[in-house]
Amino acid sequence: MIRFEHVTKRYDDGTTAVDDLSFEVAEGELVTLVGPSGCGKTTTMKMVNRLIEPTSGRILLAGEDIASADPVELRRRIGYVIQQVGLFPHKTVLENTATVPHLLGVKKDKARARAAELLELVGLDPAVHGPRYPDQLSGGQRQRVGVARALAADPPVLLMDEPFGAVDPVVRERLQNEFLALQRTVRKTILLVTHDLDEAVRLGDRIAVYGQGTVEQFAAPAAVLAAPATPYVASFVGSDRGLKRLAVTPVTEADLEPAAGAPAADGARLPLGASLREALALLLQEDSGRLAVVGADGSAEVLGVLTPAAVHRALRRAGERETESEGGSGA
Ligand code: ADP
Ligand code: MG
Repeated sequence: MIRFEHVTKRYDDGTTAVDDLSFEVAEGELVTLVGPSGCGKTTTMKMVNRLIEPTSGRILLAGEDIASADPVELRRRIGYVIQQVGLFPHKTVLENTATVPHLLGVKKDKARARAAELLELVGLDPAVHGPRYPDQLSGGQRQRVGVARALAADPPVLLMDEPFGAVDPVVRERLQNEFLALQRTVRKTILLVTHDLDEAVRLGDRIAVYGQGTVEQFAAPAAVLAAPATPYVASFVGSDRGLKRLAVTPVTEADLEPAAGAPAADGARLPLGASLREALALLLQEDSGRLAVVGADGSAEVLGVLTPAAVHRALRRAGERETESEGGSGA
């Protein structure tokens, strides 16, 4: 859907912000770009909607070279969400959300009705928040309006540059979870920039780990954590990457031990497919050190039992799998 082919950006002062970048984002995929400040993430993103032109290489959107697209028409197909949100201070939340459809010639009533739907979608009550002005909202609420506005023209592609960066960690985690739930329904093709590895791991179907203007590794979060492709990636993901991997490794049937006898009726139950992190959190509260695992739909039938040793085995096994399938692969 979005394809970078040997893209380089050198600014007039000689700074090479992006150096021979090649990777592809599949349709409906959410790819996070993660790396330290100044590594070229924003430059990468702004080349997709042609706010910045590459020095060499090309970018294809749905097979079409964007260099030959009309920039205005291009931006209609691409929603853009930035950290500063960029809401118009003198317009209400509803008017802000309706801006793009309105510009596209949608009649005012219809644009407003659509804006109200979108506010609902991002968890704001249009009757309560719609008539307010941006400075009457909290940071997290403004961020939601930014997302609603980006979705208003129903673009197939979303670019999100540190979208949750301006809110505190608790609100951020809630926004991230809501955003993931939203993405499961809208299935946009998304490039999301963050400098926060935890956010990249939590949100990304795949992660592009940036060095200086280059992608050091492009792989699923579990693969990046289990098998960093380079020493740089290893130091970026840190020595606690095992802990981070817990969050992206699901409990599978192979991890379970037989449920011998009837398990305690009131013990905690974990649905199959939940993360090892959730499993470990529950296990730590269980006096028995055993956790009954039920079907992914939360059904009553106990499929087996998970123990701390099984969590350890599952993590080791998942690590070996990732190393075999993706180890050493770069962009
Ligand atoms: P990130 O978003 O990862 O923090 P940027 O893409 O904004 O990184 O910047 C990458 C590099 O390019 C940095 O060294 C930055 O200073 C430089 N840079 C960004 N914009 C310009 C510009 N307009 N002119 C010159 N250098 C720039
Ligand atoms: Mg940036």
